Amino acid sequence: MKFYKFSALLQKDGWLSPAYVGVDEEGVIRYLSGDPPPDGSALEAVKGFVLPGFQNAHSHAFQFAMAGLAEKHSPGAVDDFWSWRETMYKCALTMTPDHQQAVAAMLYAEMLRRGYTHIAEFHYLHHDQVGRPYENLSEMGERLLVAAEEAGIKITLIPVFYQTGNFGKDPQPRQCRFISKTIDDYFQLLDDTANAVSMYPNALLGFGIHSLRAVRGDDIKRTFEQGPSNIPFHLHAAEQLKEVEECKAYLNRRPVEWLLENLPLDDRFHLVHCTHMDPLEVKRLAASKANVVLCPGTEGNLGDGIFSLEDYAKNGGSWSIGTDSHISLNPLEDLRWLDYAQRLTTHRRNTFDDGAHVLLNKTLNAGRKAMSRSSPEHHFAVGEAFDGVVFDGECSLFNKPLDCLLSSIVYTADSSTILGTMVNGEWVVKNQFHVKEKRIKAKFRSAMKSITL
Ligand SMILES: [Zn+2]
Repeated sequence: MKFYKFSALLQKDGWLSPAYVGVDEEGVIRYLSGDPPPDGSALEAVKGFVLPGFQNAHSHAFQFAMAGLAEKHSPGAVDDFWSWRETMYKCALTMTPDHQQAVAAMLYAEMLRRGYTHIAEFHYLHHDQVGRPYENLSEMGERLLVAAEEAGIKITLIPVFYQTGNFGKDPQPRQCRFISKTIDDYFQLLDDTANAVSMYPNALLGFGIHSLRAVRGDDIKRTFEQGPSNIPFHLHAAEQLKEVEECKAYLNRRPVEWLLENLPLDDRFHLVHCTHMDPLEVKRLAASKANVVLCPGTEGNLGDGIFSLEDYAKNGGSWSIGTDSHISLNPLEDLRWLDYAQRLTTHRRNTFDDGAHVLLNKTLNAGRKAMSRSSPEHHFAVGEAFDGVVFDGECSLFNKPLDCLLSSIVYTADSSTILGTMVNGEWVVKNQFHVKEKRIKAKFRSAMKSITL
């Protein structure tokens, strides 16, 4: 067993300080106490504060290649989500499997540097550049598994069903890589992906549909009913006002309203965005126990709108966070923006009684569900893998009182404050460097030279 001593470690009911952690060869916590291990074992002493590793509940890895490239706007032209999507389609069309792997490995290494230890890949770039299935049907998804293994991050791979263009329209040629025409085609892809996932010890499976825009209503219901009954179901919903209007015209309901009436929403569901809900939808969605995945960096960048977080939280709603297009990767910045968007709207500072604890606990709880991790324990516990992010105790956080330490981290910190990140009890990032940084960066540079955007 390997032992660590940390200045403090966050538990559900507060900080354990100092904290002694013993992990076995599998990276599972076998000792967790404020007292040193009884046998006087050697230990690594770390002057740092440990939070549970963050779950990133929504990612499209290939979009990391285009982050920042859609920010110049022609004078007088309307630039919105839909024009951004054109750049995204171009990016999707250029990615080979090798590109996908190299870009994803770099992205995952950067996520680890910022404290994420588990990623949910909402994956729809399934086929080759002219829309033909690869010989290995789950080729592109498997490249994400390889990238995650290389970077040392845990992954939940979620191949999603993408059937049509916008609300029943034929797909555009630029969407050809995403399309499975029938449910059977999609389930074949899901089966092959499940087999691939089973080969990787740190990988799990989810399933879902891209959005109400991208799958016909009856097939959405059948996908859920006929799909696996024990893994999470993810989908995009109600991100854009135009989408809400088109949904009303096509399905005669607002997107979240339609989902509430047509699917048995419960805590297996993870609805990404839900930016545009009316007050009744907010209440009903919270009561359903379904989870929302909020991506404030991307939602702000795309001009989506502001999620009704205060009302949703008051009604007991559950949410996780994701970085989606990867325009920003800092989980703490995303947590802050969830709160700041409410403060800017209400002109008050107390969105929550204790914002840091509420934001972190909610995010960890729903994040684990989004990842398909069944254990209810979302902080550290004996029997759980030791995945954590360690903040430097000798820099700006030095001597902060323990009752303000978490808020100091959530409201002030960024990657420069992080001493390292541990997955399964091993450092994968230490002193801000990823342990395989050189190799991952070299492959990324080579891929970016040949990606045409
Ligand atoms: Zn997305």
